[in-house]
Amino acid sequence: MIDLTGKAAIVTGGARGIGKATLHKLGSLGAKLVVADMNPETTNATVEEFKKLGYSAIAFVGDISKEDQCVALIEACQNEYGSVDILVNNAGITKDGLLMRMKKEAWDAVIAVNLTGTYLCTQAAIKYMMKQKSGSIINLSSIAGENGNVGQTNYSASKAGVIGFTKACGLELASRNIRVNAIAPGFIATEMTDAIPEKIRLSIQNSIPLKRAGQPEDIANAVAFLASDASSFITGHILSVNGGGFLPGAG
Ligand code: NAD
Repeated sequence: MIDLTGKAAIVTGGARGIGKATLHKLGSLGAKLVVADMNPETTNATVEEFKKLGYSAIAFVGDISKEDQCVALIEACQNEYGSVDILVNNAGITKDGLLMRMKKEAWDAVIAVNLTGTYLCTQAAIKYMMKQKSGSIINLSSIAGENGNVGQTNYSASKAGVIGFTKACGLELASRNIRVNAIAPGFIATEMTDAIPEKIRLSIQNSIPLKRAGQPEDIANAVAFLASDASSFITGHILSVNGGGFLPGAG
């Protein structure tokens, strides 16, 4: 049984999709929650929802591509709960387009949130985790970072960057008992993937060996494992949660 009682957990991009499902899971396992997102309405509504379920939860509204806001986020968790035990770097965006036509703004925006935001929040969090001599950081990569994807050179580069960052952090922080792992989801049904035309969505689903889209809860379960002592000998690892997308003959 996974027990996160008393652990303070921050999830960026926590007001919907995978982030919200992850907070729900961590809260149900006893963690005290920080819902961090840039959308004030959905962030506050999520906190209210969680409080009704009996979870401890606070809101942090901010943009994790900005250094001062990442520092303020981690401080808010420390001030409210007295520790920073779990950080899930989940906030992410897409700005898809073929490389031939990709504007530099689309490149910069995706790298700023997906990769630089992950670096900034991690750097701010380890200040406290190093003093505590404990912590678990889980970064959201993607199957696109492992395989590449047409129309997603910016997104694939950002998510491949998250993989390298995770492995380097795993090595650098192990002596301080801070574990750093990543999850590489395959196709997960959220508002992010709702933007894909239905015909393409169905053909992606059909190419998955388990013959379904993943659900946000599939990722939340993997995060809960990596956040907990059940994974205490795992660091620098990239966990693919993709319905068998890498099996020979898949896709
Ligand atoms: P989503 O778009 O449904 O939710 C993302 C959340 O992040 C939103 O609430 C948004 O407001 C927030 N956000 C965006 N930019 C932010 C910023 N600068 N600061 C703070 N919050 C910000 O996305 P999702 O599908 O739940 O994906 C979550 C993570 O999983 C992302 O990193 C994504 O790249 C990754 N992922 C998703 C899939 C998928 O199929 N859905 C697959 C692989 C990886």
